[in-house]
Amino acid sequence: MTDIKRRKFVSLMGVSAAVIPVSALVASLPSRADDTPAVDPESAQAQALQYVAVSEKADQSCGTCTLYTGAADSEMGPCPLFPGSAVHSAGWCSAFVPKA
Ligand code: SF4
Repeated sequence: MTDIKRRKFVSLMGVSAAVIPVSALVASLPSRADDTPAVDPESAQAQALQYVAVSEKADQSCGTCTLYTGAADSEMGPCPLFPGSAVHSAGWCSAFVPKA
């Protein structure tokens, strides 16, 4: 192996070593909230909590509930009562607790 080929090989190995950890980091990031499936209102948990995608109570909705952890202007977001699913910010359930 000539010196030039060896240098090129060593250089490529250095780039590969830098790229692999970055791609592993990106793959390990949590998925975005908009990738999370919406709560199925027909699911047993939703039925038990009387969850609806659109609140019928003028002053109560998931977006104003202390358990809602979505962004203030988001249409959907996480709620710990429905792990792995997203609730509608306009939704509501019987566990509603107003934000302080
Ligand atoms: S507890 Fe009920 S009202 Fe509050 S964010 Fe969760 S689903 Fe919405």
